[in-house]
Amino acid sequence: MADLKTDVRYLKGIGEKKALALNKLGVFSLYDLISFFPRKYEDRSRICPIAAAMDGESLCIQALVADTPRLSHIRRGMDLVKLRAVDDSGVVDITFFNQSYAKDNLHRGESYNFFGRVEVKNGRRSMVNPVYEPSDRAGQVTGRIVPVYRLSAGLNQRSIMQAVRQGLDSCLDKLPDLLPEEVQRRCRLSQARYAYENIHFPADFEALELARRRLIFEELFVLSCALGRMQRQRSTDEGIKLSPRDMEEFWASLPFRPTEAQRRAVAQATEDMCSGAVMSRLVQGDVGSGKTLVAAALIWLCAQNGYMSAFMAPTEILAQQHYDTLSSMLSPFGLRVGKLTGSLSAKEKRQVKALLQQGELDVVVGTHALFSQDVEYKNLALVVTDEQHRFGVNQRSALINKGARPHVLVMSATPIPRTLALIIYGDLDISVIDQLPPGRQKVDTFAVDESYRTRLNGFIRKQVAEGRQVFVVVPMVEENEELNIKLKSAQEHAAQLSALFPDLKIGCVHGKMKAKDKDAVMAAFVSGEIQILVATTVIEVGVDVPNASLMIVENAERFGLSQLHQLRGRVGRGKHKSYCILVSDSDSPELRSRLDIMCKTSDGFKISEEDLRLRGPGDFFGSRQHGLPEMHVADLGADVNVLQQAQDESRRLLEKDPQLELPEHQALKERVDRLYEVNSAGFN
Ligand code: ADP
Ligand code: MG
Repeated sequence: MADLKTDVRYLKGIGEKKALALNKLGVFSLYDLISFFPRKYEDRSRICPIAAAMDGESLCIQALVADTPRLSHIRRGMDLVKLRAVDDSGVVDITFFNQSYAKDNLHRGESYNFFGRVEVKNGRRSMVNPVYEPSDRAGQVTGRIVPVYRLSAGLNQRSIMQAVRQGLDSCLDKLPDLLPEEVQRRCRLSQARYAYENIHFPADFEALELARRRLIFEELFVLSCALGRMQRQRSTDEGIKLSPRDMEEFWASLPFRPTEAQRRAVAQATEDMCSGAVMSRLVQGDVGSGKTLVAAALIWLCAQNGYMSAFMAPTEILAQQHYDTLSSMLSPFGLRVGKLTGSLSAKEKRQVKALLQQGELDVVVGTHALFSQDVEYKNLALVVTDEQHRFGVNQRSALINKGARPHVLVMSATPIPRTLALIIYGDLDISVIDQLPPGRQKVDTFAVDESYRTRLNGFIRKQVAEGRQVFVVVPMVEENEELNIKLKSAQEHAAQLSALFPDLKIGCVHGKMKAKDKDAVMAAFVSGEIQILVATTVIEVGVDVPNASLMIVENAERFGLSQLHQLRGRVGRGKHKSYCILVSDSDSPELRSRLDIMCKTSDGFKISEEDLRLRGPGDFFGSRQHGLPEMHVADLGADVNVLQQAQDESRRLLEKDPQLELPEHQALKERVDRLYEVNSAGFN
């Protein structure tokens, strides 16, 4: 008897090969399989009269085969089956390539449903390789809404669909409903079994919507419960209790005044750290808002209390930059700043580790090497992680296991709307730095199309001639990319620029490179050796190159607004007038209005609110920048209302049952616990 944990390879039609292909998609058990939601749907439920079919439309027709299908061999390895089909309104020519069996499956005088793309040429309609089934037995691949799944090599839609069908049939009745009845009633949600059935094989669009809403809710609810439980847990944990200091002493040493927002964030964190409980605080601030200073102030506070801090950056380059910044801010007070990264020699590492163990440093800056097994800290009170989206929830919790529960400060430069922050960072308290230091120049932003290419190249030339540097960002080319989209890869684009500017040094970084090689190119750009850096979004994370004054984003339509904003934040960091040029040939009005927002405002929070309004929260969850486990909401297209509701309901439930101990919450607890398991498995 199959149950939810049964391996997919026990399904009929799923052999070793297909099972492996499913594993590639993250599907191992039947439960995974029925939770593998379609990426989209094709409406094959409506039958369209042949004469009403427009050129290029994909649709379903019901037609009589009017002549005997003819098989011809064009050449070796190329068979054609041709036939004509008719309904009351018109005629369509149907051709099958290399499906000679169609000749035997389709019979003259009988009625079939065909689904496919219609072409109209000189008034004649045709279809190539449609899917079909007899009209009197329709309902498998036509005559209904059909799911479309993500694929991997070795799988096709039909095989996934059949596997899912079997999965549902064999274990849907064993699927527990983890949402309390009360919650389902209050939020008008459909039941689990209904939802899982209809997300795959919707009876109609209304059923699909009900299913979708329920599943999004469920996912966000589980996540909120997990994070909420973590937060509750933490507030009862005992932390290192610091005594407050007069911050003016630190502020007075700076060459500038801290902004009100910086003061507020420091005050909030200080209160946490002096409370006796463990701090877990997120500092959210736009690029350039001065988050590093907040961290420096708190490191200073710890040092005044005789404690050490650790500052973790996602890359070597950033670790070096932070090391330099912190050294200059903290050494005037006699604080000892150390560095620990993967690129140090074994001897250097040993030295730093010894210092850490003896408590001879006040702060150590580094990459995740900071938290490898053999690093021991004496008196570690504070862990700061920069650009937290590179570290998962799991890693955050692993940090906490280093010694006596240090306080954790997470810094994120991705402004996200408050509603989302509550869910994504549900386990953290949040400080927002909503103010930039005075005197910042606005980065002039323009949205252009290909017709500006020559002028754009001229502009690059001009900036470089003035001694500036240029970022060019191209979208990541994904595998599985739909074939009709033309995207240049970073390497291709760099090669073109090299041909255009043979006298300039052009570097290229992309996701497939080794971290070490990436860092080397980045370092060459930081030092000014390279003038133009072509990159995928790997540069999004806060590299500081004050001399860069021009950011060009190719295929800007491929980026979310918040991402564009992050990218733009890479320029305008020095004294030079800076520009951001968004290149896109797409003429979709939706895109135009998105790019318009970029040109008009430089407020990251406003931009992310707009992004949320225009595109829904899916992109925020889909981008995986926050280190959360992979979420389906992105595929399912969540809306903000469901988000809010799930958050409210999870709070309500945790109020009543903080540890999920009640018998009626056991199915929920299991899912919530699993979220942690998945999380901690990913970290070592
Ligand atoms: P981010 O929030 O993006 O990490 P940084 O901490 O790198 O920002 O700060 C950006 C720049 O602003 C740095 O050069 C820093 O020295 C400067 N800065 C930070 N706070 C202030 C302030 N209150 N007044 C003036 N300049 C500041
Ligand atoms: Mg920063």
